[in-house]
Amino acid sequence: MADSAVPLGRRPRLRKTLAAALAGVVTAAVATVALSAAPASAADCSGGYVGLTYDDGPNPNNTTNLLNTLKANGLRATFFNIGQNAQNYPSLVRAQVDAGMWVGNHSYTHPHLTQMSSSQIQSELQRTQQAIQQATGAAPKLFRPPYGETNSTLKSVEQQLGLREIIWDVDSQDWNGASTAQIVQAAGRLQNGQIILMHDQYSTTVQAIPQIAANLRSRNMCAGMISPSTGRAVAPDGGSGGPTGQPTVTPTNPGGGSCTATLSAGQQWSDRYNLNVSVSGSSNWTVTMNVPSPAKIIATWNTSASWPSSQVMVAKPNGSGNNFGVTIQHNGNWTWPSVSCQAG
Ligand code: ZN
Repeated sequence: MADSAVPLGRRPRLRKTLAAALAGVVTAAVATVALSAAPASAADCSGGYVGLTYDDGPNPNNTTNLLNTLKANGLRATFFNIGQNAQNYPSLVRAQVDAGMWVGNHSYTHPHLTQMSSSQIQSELQRTQQAIQQATGAAPKLFRPPYGETNSTLKSVEQQLGLREIIWDVDSQDWNGASTAQIVQAAGRLQNGQIILMHDQYSTTVQAIPQIAANLRSRNMCAGMISPSTGRAVAPDGGSGGPTGQPTVTPTNPGGGSCTATLSAGQQWSDRYNLNVSVSGSSNWTVTMNVPSPAKIIATWNTSASWPSSQVMVAKPNGSGNNFGVTIQHNGNWTWPSVSCQAG
């Protein structure tokens, strides 16, 4: 079931600055209505996003462990499921979504699609769309062809079904006997926007996750979603299981002077996510966040926060500069807060 036949040269590059990124994050956390433990620090995604992908599941001997390990390390990934596996194990497909993962289509029986007719291809893809829709309530928008093999007939069927074809930039070679260290090294080559091929099958792949997470942190990178419009890894924006907010720019409040508060995505977990707030235009600011119920802000850092009401937070500088952050327990509502800024 492995995908790649493309050999890639080994590159003996190992990152040695695992803790360096964390040193730049000053956490002056002020717990507010804390309902659960807050993360130790905000994620810095200034280095960009990568797409972690796991093919060929769901797998009753592996998927649960894989999901738990990803969650424990604060990573989200895209699962390209085989349709017949999704049909046989719908609860595992739901578990993928519940864990904050994205789900894609990887054909129904994992054939060599480039050797099939258009109607046979259509059956492979359509049955998989149906199996995943039945399991999760939503049909995938992403498709990965088995073995990375594609042609114009397949692309035409993908287009009819509204599927974006996703191959990969880096092959972990986990299907080819790569060791955990080699899988970690492969992930270390990922650049902003790129995608790595892995499989929902191997213990070596699961064991690589903590080091992959550490390597990404050391490079100020985060695990993102794969955009159905561009096919590149991007900040999560409301795809399956993800926050629905977009980076928000609030213009000047005319009554109080000029400042702007801009939101950007931070690290995410299954139950909560971080938002970074960057204020420009004034160093004497008041930022008001309206949090959509039932979501709750459970921690803040680099700001002095007060609470006029349960869903409204007012943030002011606390001497830590003009960037602060919040951790939001989403309670099922991933919509980002609205934000406004007042200077002076
Ligand atoms: Zn595959």
